[in-house]
Amino acid sequence: MTDQVRQNAIERAWEDLVATARRTAAAGLVVGTSGNVSTRVGGLVLVTPSAVPYDRLTPEDTVAVDLDGNQLLGELAPTSELPLHLEVYRNTQAGAVVHTHAVYATAVSTLVPELPPIHYMAAALGGTVRVARYALYGSDELAANMLHALRERSACLLQNHGTVAYGDSLDQAYDRTAQLEWMCRLWLTAASLPGHTPSLLTGSQLREAADKLQGYGRPR
Ligand code: 13P
Ligand code: ZN
Repeated sequence: MTDQVRQNAIERAWEDLVATARRTAAAGLVVGTSGNVSTRVGGLVLVTPSAVPYDRLTPEDTVAVDLDGNQLLGELAPTSELPLHLEVYRNTQAGAVVHTHAVYATAVSTLVPELPPIHYMAAALGGTVRVARYALYGSDELAANMLHALRERSACLLQNHGTVAYGDSLDQAYDRTAQLEWMCRLWLTAASLPGHTPSLLTGSQLREAADKLQGYGRPR
């Protein structure tokens, strides 16, 4: 990559990252400066800065670190959840990571050790979504707990905190976050009717859905 091509790639990725972060706020998945977003460009990881409202971000605010967390671009402090984002990139093929405090997902994270498999869309996240054990925000311990909950999954809940989802692209990481929030809302809605318990899907029903989802949207 020439320097100019690399520079253009970084500028485009920053634009996409800011747009994705703004989407999380516009969709009500975060309030204020909660949550954070990152995306990978070669050996660089672009991340939202800590404690800055997304609508204030400009191209001059670009923050980038390497996979060890050394800051390579920008003056603003990287997100406090840098350990969590870097742990995903070190252990998966992720191209982007989205962390939110989405309200239904966070509510579920306080109630159960995993989101009961109420809908086949759990298969799109790799199976039943787990809840990572609580640890202080921004800590290495939280990053480790998250990685454990993400085994063979592309999303998890963080106990009493929020969501993490990753994907090949920012759009995919965002869509997975939105699906997870929707599924948590679905389960809470179904489980809230007194005297009724929602029916759940079996492992084999989820696996069957996972197989079929491989071809979703592809011509037969
Ligand atoms: P930052 O503003 O540092 O990204 O923190 C927000 C957050 O969600 C911490 O868990
Ligand atoms: Zn958070």
